[in-house]
Amino acid sequence: MNVTIFGTGYVGLVQGAILAEVGHHVVCVDVDDNKVEQLKLGIIPIYEPGLESLVKENHAAGRLEFTTDAVAGVKHGHVQFIAVGTPPDEDGSADLKYVLAVAATIGEHMERDRIIINKSTVPVGSADRVRTEVKKVLEKRGRNDIGFDVVSNPEFLKEGSAVVDCQRPDRIIIGTECDATIDVMRELYAPFNRNRDKIIVMDVKSAELTKYAANCMLATKISFMNEMANLAERLGADIEAVRQGIGADPRIGYHFIYPGVGYGGSCFPKDLQALIHTSDAINFDAKLLKAVESRNKEQKNTLFQKISQHFDAQLKGKTFAVWGLSFKPNTDDMRDAPSRVLMEALWTAGAKVQAYDPEAMEEAQRLYGSNELLTLCGTKETALKNSDALIIVTEWQNFRAPDFEFIKAQLTEPTIFDGRNLYEPRRMVAKGFTYYSVGRTKLA
Ligand code: NAD
Repeated sequence: MNVTIFGTGYVGLVQGAILAEVGHHVVCVDVDDNKVEQLKLGIIPIYEPGLESLVKENHAAGRLEFTTDAVAGVKHGHVQFIAVGTPPDEDGSADLKYVLAVAATIGEHMERDRIIINKSTVPVGSADRVRTEVKKVLEKRGRNDIGFDVVSNPEFLKEGSAVVDCQRPDRIIIGTECDATIDVMRELYAPFNRNRDKIIVMDVKSAELTKYAANCMLATKISFMNEMANLAERLGADIEAVRQGIGADPRIGYHFIYPGVGYGGSCFPKDLQALIHTSDAINFDAKLLKAVESRNKEQKNTLFQKISQHFDAQLKGKTFAVWGLSFKPNTDDMRDAPSRVLMEALWTAGAKVQAYDPEAMEEAQRLYGSNELLTLCGTKETALKNSDALIIVTEWQNFRAPDFEFIKAQLTEPTIFDGRNLYEPRRMVAKGFTYYSVGRTKLA
């Protein structure tokens, strides 16, 4: 099938690559010249396991093309994906300007019937707005004879495992009431729908809300566990034991109930805000969502509070080793990352940071390169040198079993603030560390 994808970010690029891999002919359109030129050269602007080889191979085979030429893009695909960003507006609502710009472009240049697939995360009612925009432009051109449908097909990939998630999706949500469109969508996704029928067809609004409901549910699980962790710390209980204890109940399960330093990334914070905004706009007080968001904001400050308390609020001139900058492992994405809240608080207090992340160093350089209170270190070991304490923010695999004797020798004081509960408190104390973690009583 001929497929066009507008937007070559985490969603568009991964979708493009996996659709090309199964044999579809994919043209990816982006407004960012630099990104398109890099992609043509096989340089992948984001870190996502497995993506580079998929892009290179399919580009070389001619099944995956990159262009800034929107006219050629609209001409190419019978299906036209919209996979552009929907960042939060100032009031927290999802900003649809990129989505509507693509809709206008499609309306401007389409000469034959098209199916427009909205993959961006958009508020309920957005497909109608896309439809209205395309219709308006077609009317202006006097081309009401061209038919089109707008489908909601939200994306559920996780950064860090995006390729595998798209190749083996848990579900494929298709929001449309048009039988002909359902047929095309089934054909498009058939290669990913062999093991069992993963396609769930519903009306457009339900499909749009499904995406928000999924992210809000996951954010709720995290904030719930963080609330329990705060209680555990104050009551002298161990949240890790509690986690095991509740996870054993199949109605609860073990997935996604890790306490930590709060959720970040490009999706949960903005999608929570957007659904709260939608609720407010229809005078519905989304009490639970507001509580989830506020718990998360507080949680992102907890590491700093522990550090400040430990050093009696005397942080000026201190140096901290920070391990982990991306908002979660296996990605270089630092959008809304807890590490940013922590580092900015440390800098405001006059402390220096020596930071290391396996993949997010370039992004950190882009965001904070000119900050003289930050030193970006090439290895996790060099970040430790002469630091007053080690702070762990992201649970990368290679932080899990470090050489503790080496760490102790590098730090001016053997203290670790662990935002991800990577180590066993008793062992850490036995090794001579002062060890702070989340939801577990600090052992002397
Ligand atoms: P991104 O910011 O990484 O990429 C968006 C791309 O769209 C950029 O390359 C930008 O240059 C391009 N773009 C903007 N306007 C354009 C236009 N008019 N024509 C062509 N390209 C244009 O975004 P992302 O992380 O891929 O997210 C895209 C959407 O998918 C968002 O709505 C997001 O909420 C949703 N989503 C993201 C994830 C995720 O994990 N990143 C997961 C599921 C859903």
